[in-house]
Amino acid sequence: MDNHVLVTGGAGYIGAHACKALRRAGYVPVTFDNLVTGWQDAVKFGPFERGDLLDRARLDEVFAKYTPVAVMHFAALSQVGESMSQPGRYWHNNVGGSLNLVEAAVDAACMNFVFSSTCATYGDQDNVVLDENSAQYPINAYGASKRAIEDILRDFEAAHGLRNVIFRYFNVAGADPEAEVGEFHQPETHLIPLMLDAIDGKRDALTIFGTDYDTPDGTCIRDYVHVCDLVDAHVLGLKWLQDGKGSRVFNLGTGSGFSVREVIDQSRAVTNRTVPFKEGARRAGDATKLVSGSTRAVAELGWQPDRSNLNTMIADAWRWHQTGHFDK
Ligand code: UDP
Repeated sequence: MDNHVLVTGGAGYIGAHACKALRRAGYVPVTFDNLVTGWQDAVKFGPFERGDLLDRARLDEVFAKYTPVAVMHFAALSQVGESMSQPGRYWHNNVGGSLNLVEAAVDAACMNFVFSSTCATYGDQDNVVLDENSAQYPINAYGASKRAIEDILRDFEAAHGLRNVIFRYFNVAGADPEAEVGEFHQPETHLIPLMLDAIDGKRDALTIFGTDYDTPDGTCIRDYVHVCDLVDAHVLGLKWLQDGKGSRVFNLGTGSGFSVREVIDQSRAVTNRTVPFKEGARRAGDATKLVSGSTRAVAELGWQPDRSNLNTMIADAWRWHQTGHFDK
């Protein structure tokens, strides 16, 4: 029997890396994506089914065609700033779409569900160690939409037995070291790809969003995780569910935080180029510091985030950047 996994958002940055990891682990990833923020060129490791999560009939069709052993749910709008100016899109697409997906999975008796959540569900909590038991007080609509989906999953587990692993990501960075897939958003809003563009003149100087935060150098601090390590955790989470170990929440971060200025310095060192940047105002919805205080994924899943050091993440992102994918 084929080992199909339905990967929503499989044409996006993290979803495409997950498809590669699933394929390597012996699964057949079926990408379900509406291509609003994803790229068909990124679907390289299994079948592609174009569709929208808000289209329940299309979802039912795809579940019936493949009878997947599990769902990995990546598809979402994910820009913090945009979520503050257009919250309706986040509630419709992220929450409405996920509710459809969860209902379709239960009706198709596909009871293993791996969900991509975020540390943005914790909000901005000074001097609090962020582990899986931390209170969730999101400060932007993106984080609020993800927290709502976590609630949906808990209710559907209680009522229908939908087993779920929830991963709360910190900042995902880097690219496939073989550069088959990588990070490419349109528009791009993330720090590292914007900086690499600025370094080779494909964009204007990077703007640092806020230099008056209560941190040692005044810029925001984030916990960066390599995308390949992150998707490896998802494969471990899937096996965890298939082994009958039950629903669980895992933070995916390394516990080390880097400021925006530190990321700039490291990028200069990796690329051996000048980083053009200027200092600007704070961006709405940004938390001061988001660093994971949990080792649960390492202890329980046996996760080994070996590539998640700043140097390797930027080097892998730079290699992908130099493949010229922008010229498409
Ligand atoms: N950032 C920045 N300039 C940019 C983009 C991002 O200073 O052009 C900062 C942002 O304020 C945050 C960090 O870089 O502190 C990471 O932002 P990103 O958008 O990559 O991820 P997020 O933390 O929003 O998930």
